[in-house]
Amino acid sequence: AGVGRAQIGVTGLAVMGSNLARNLARHGHTVALHNRHADKTDRLIAEHGDEGDFVRTESIEEFVAALQKPRRALIMVKAGQPTDQVIEQLAAAMEPGDIIIDGGNALFTDTIRREHALRERGLHFVGAGVSGGEVGALEGPSIMPGGSVESYKSLGPLLESIAAQVDGTPCCTHIGPDGSGHFVKMVHNGIEYSDMQLIGEAYDLMRRVLGFDAGRIAEVFRDWNGTELESYLVEITAEVLDKSDPQTGGPLVDVIVDAAEQKGTGRWTVKAALDLGVPVTGIAEAVFARALSGARTQRAATKGLAGGTLPTVAEALGGHSETEFIEDIRRALYASKVIAYAQGFDEIKAGSDEHGWGVKPVDLATIWRGGCIIRARFLDRIREAYTSNPELPSLVLDPFFRSAIEEGLDSWRRVVAAAVRLGVPTPGFSSSLAYYDGLRAERLPAALTQGQRDYFGAHTYERVDAPEGKKFHILWSEGG
Ligand code: NAP
Repeated sequence: AGVGRAQIGVTGLAVMGSNLARNLARHGHTVALHNRHADKTDRLIAEHGDEGDFVRTESIEEFVAALQKPRRALIMVKAGQPTDQVIEQLAAAMEPGDIIIDGGNALFTDTIRREHALRERGLHFVGAGVSGGEVGALEGPSIMPGGSVESYKSLGPLLESIAAQVDGTPCCTHIGPDGSGHFVKMVHNGIEYSDMQLIGEAYDLMRRVLGFDAGRIAEVFRDWNGTELESYLVEITAEVLDKSDPQTGGPLVDVIVDAAEQKGTGRWTVKAALDLGVPVTGIAEAVFARALSGARTQRAATKGLAGGTLPTVAEALGGHSETEFIEDIRRALYASKVIAYAQGFDEIKAGSDEHGWGVKPVDLATIWRGGCIIRARFLDRIREAYTSNPELPSLVLDPFFRSAIEEGLDSWRRVVAAAVRLGVPTPGFSSSLAYYDGLRAERLPAALTQGQRDYFGAHTYERVDAPEGKKFHILWSEGG
């Protein structure tokens, strides 16, 4: 292969790839462009060719030859089989020491497999999570690259230059070996699911309990965005709720079908958590809530099911005013959100331990402050928490979050109780509260579970008055 002048190349020029290529060019890097069908390459050059220095290529060989050594080629094609095909084409044309980067939403186990296979061939493979959607890709995403330390030395400065910047710090840092970058991106998306579900529940409560219309709820979210809830998702919630439908003139949200879709990263987060044995209950409820909403045939058939005898709203609010209830919801949202992040960070720690990645939680709190979908003021607090104690056993134990939750607890319980009494489903709020109560419980009914397991399967149990790890078994019944 020849050697060219481009500092980096991008192959796969759909929306994400073109925007990342433009972002790189706007930052003064010479960017080689490639797409399976050259029409996308030509369109990019026709529409944005003046934004920087692009090198147009048609074949993969030409693309590879356009790159400076060590070559850096960023793949932004459809995840799965297409990514494997493009990796193979690139690897065949590259030389030892070159770097292939996959910026798509790959499953981290695929990234581990690909990294190992390419390392055997002397190539670096970097699985990089990219968050921020199409706008982020163009204006500054949050980037989570895995792979070797050596590859990051060459690639890092390029990626850091195009990432979002918060207080002069880029939202990009080396996460750890092989699949670690895609793993943390996956959990990021899981937290995003949870955050969106919780916001949805807050909206639903204002709608169904207080009878507010979309515009009024938008105002509440706009107010909340001036509190510690300040975040990208809360901000866009107000905008989505404020949008009117050009056809009917009413709120657009009221004519959108209430069936949420999912592409898979939330589901992956829960599957990985199940394998690791980490209770990410809030994320799981969010994934299942989308599944329930999407079960349209079943929902159409079950619409008439009874809800029981419901109290009046005034009874359910127990003498609290509308304003007080809104503040209760805000606090419940905040507390549940702390749980979502606590569970997500637990999963990252477990994944990192399992694979020996050495992922530092503080790095994620740092690079998620800007560019990505879950960016929030809140992340500065998480950063402080893990800076003062990198070994924090749970985010809820950090003094700041601990008191935030404790101050919100009564509100949180009132909201969940009112929702249950009125038959408004709040799986996110309720399960997060149950998780919190489970964490802090003096004793759990798991003692009974252990007794049952020993009864029917001789699975043994430990005793409170014996050293940890010492197993006991008893004859539970005559003939047992
Ligand atoms: P996409 O719709 O996922 O993929 C389209 C691109 O893949 C086109 O350039 C297409 O080339 C190429 N492609 C498909 N099959 C191919 C094959 N067998 N060989 C070579 N190229 C092939 O594009 P996207 O939405 O821009 O996303 C790109 C990646 O970023 C995906 O992995 C996605 O999950 C990830 N991502 C997306 C977002 C987002 O907000 N959209 C955010 C973060 C990450 P042709 O033009 O020749 O068909």
